[in-house]
Amino acid sequence: MTTDNKQRTTKRAGKVPRIGATRSDNGKNDAGDPEESVFLDTTLRPSQWNDYIGQKNIKDNLRILLTAATERNHPPEHILFYGPPGLGKTTLAYLIAKELQAQMKVTSGPAIEKVGDLASVLTNLAAGDILFIDEIHRLNKSIEEVLYPAMETGTLDIIIGKGPSARVIQLDLPPFTLLAATTRPALLSAPLRSRFSGGVFKLEFYSEPEIQQIIKRSAKILGIDIGQEAAAEIAKRSRFTPRTANYLLKRCRDYAQVNKRPLDRKTVDEALALLGVDILGLTPSDRSILQAIVSKYNGGPVGLNTIAASLSEEEATIEEYNEPYLIQIGMLERTPRGRQATKRTYAHLNLENPKVEQEKLL
Ligand code: ADP
Repeated sequence: MTTDNKQRTTKRAGKVPRIGATRSDNGKNDAGDPEESVFLDTTLRPSQWNDYIGQKNIKDNLRILLTAATERNHPPEHILFYGPPGLGKTTLAYLIAKELQAQMKVTSGPAIEKVGDLASVLTNLAAGDILFIDEIHRLNKSIEEVLYPAMETGTLDIIIGKGPSARVIQLDLPPFTLLAATTRPALLSAPLRSRFSGGVFKLEFYSEPEIQQIIKRSAKILGIDIGQEAAAEIAKRSRFTPRTANYLLKRCRDYAQVNKRPLDRKTVDEALALLGVDILGLTPSDRSILQAIVSKYNGGPVGLNTIAASLSEEEATIEEYNEPYLIQIGMLERTPRGRQATKRTYAHLNLENPKVEQEKLL
């Protein structure tokens, strides 16, 4: 797959486009359904810094970086964002592009399969453009090596031919800024990481009050009437993650609508019970991971590959999606010998901790 058909662009100084649904003058989208675009993640994506809740430290740093670059009339240096999915990395990239009134080309690690794909993306950039590469950890090593000189000296080395007759052609690229995002920073090679000279920023989980703010903003955009208690309950179960908060809000709205009920605390409890999301926000897949560690491997430590194999689940999914939150709330420990259940795990699953019972007997 070439990168061209994967790319999306924002217009200069324009609004972030609604992917898959453009609005016409009458406020309806092209599909003729006024509600359709509302289901898309992009509808809720903040398009102004004020709407981007939390991550204060990153916003403060970006403000300095962007202001300084604008004053020098030069594109900012390359920036890497990392952290679990749904915390707002892509949104930051769009906000930066908007702030700089720059055109942004969007692609991702898996979409760049060949060196030629990257070369075509880079040679199509104009001066001052932003290139956003999502899931940059999935770029293969030979492509990374082409990216180094492009990032550092603004040149693209293309090798033509093979063996002794091979020649290197060097192309000068226009000044551009690379913004990249990853959920797996450890998979990035040290040389690549070090070339993000503008900064490497870790997105933190959000606090419950911040998630509540995000839920209220989303409810307003979607025209959902939600009480304080219901919003607080959804926030509590949102894994401190904006994307999860928006997802749960929309599912609770559906439940209220179908059952012709107000979106109150009781409705939230029932809707989330139906989805299998418990009081801590754990999903059935989180619980099956914990259950496997406790019941099959005596609480651990057990290797990630063993857990994944026993659940027929992808290691990457467990590592990127489930683990960060389970570790954050103290339900799982990552030790050099593998993953381990904690006292909280046993308490939450309502199981006796055999290790504690044994200690009592001694
Ligand atoms: P990531 O790229 O880290 O996976 P996104 O930037 O795609 O996450 O964010 C997912 C969704 O969560 C966005 O569309 C937006 O609606 C919401 N979101 C993320 N961060 C924030 C924030 N700081 N404030 C408000 N909403 C946010």
